[in-house]
Amino acid sequence: MNKTTTFSLMTIALISTVAASAFVVKTADAKTQRDADRRAPYVNALSPELTVPAVLPARIDDPVLMEAWIRLYNRQNPIQLWDGSTLTGQMLAQFVLDNNIAMVWDTEGACGSGSCSLKKCADCGYASDSPIYMMVAEQTFGLGMEALVSTLAHEAFHRTEPFGVVSDTRFEEFWAFYIGAKITPEVGLHFDGYNSLDPDNLNLWITDSRIDAYLQLPAYPDSVQTLISVASTSSNFEGIPTHAYAATN
Ligand SMILES: [Zn+2]
Repeated sequence: MNKTTTFSLMTIALISTVAASAFVVKTADAKTQRDADRRAPYVNALSPELTVPAVLPARIDDPVLMEAWIRLYNRQNPIQLWDGSTLTGQMLAQFVLDNNIAMVWDTEGACGSGSCSLKKCADCGYASDSPIYMMVAEQTFGLGMEALVSTLAHEAFHRTEPFGVVSDTRFEEFWAFYIGAKITPEVGLHFDGYNSLDPDNLNLWITDSRIDAYLQLPAYPDSVQTLISVASTSSNFEGIPTHAYAATN
């Protein structure tokens, strides 16, 4: 190979490298433009104190659901959990974004009467492509954007699988509702005086909140068993009939 040929080959190699870089830049530009285009309507429509992140979840198409996601993203008050750790609405919204979770209206009744994500089986995890289904009534009957933000926080918390890949429990529901109520206090659930780590308190909270169907769930995930108070040491039930709080299974 003479010098001229070597030089030509090097030139070609250099040119193709430059071309490849240009392609990468172009692709990145196109993505940045797409992100900007998706973001613009929300920047224009929402009040200026709300931050609209540069990148929005790719799998939320409905503008009402996207607004709920943006509003959840803006909730930065720490919510203290059962083990002293804290969580914010922004962390939950970020989880939805990072895990590319879709969010759709439950027009086909996948959840019955409610909002949910579907698991592959009761004790299995969520399929990565399973959307968060939002109850259509949140839209139809105008329960309002704030109720939607609360429900999104509740469902996103479930998707974080806070106790690992286990079946849903009364304890997980208590905390999903608690987080939803901290995000939107107007949803009207009350938690003061209920110790979720006391099995009888946990059941009393469910019956008081009139969501008795949740009593069909197991009470606690294995990972919090060591934290559970002994119910008999509780004095919170003096004067309350046993049937009002005793476990049904
Ligand atoms: Zn739930």
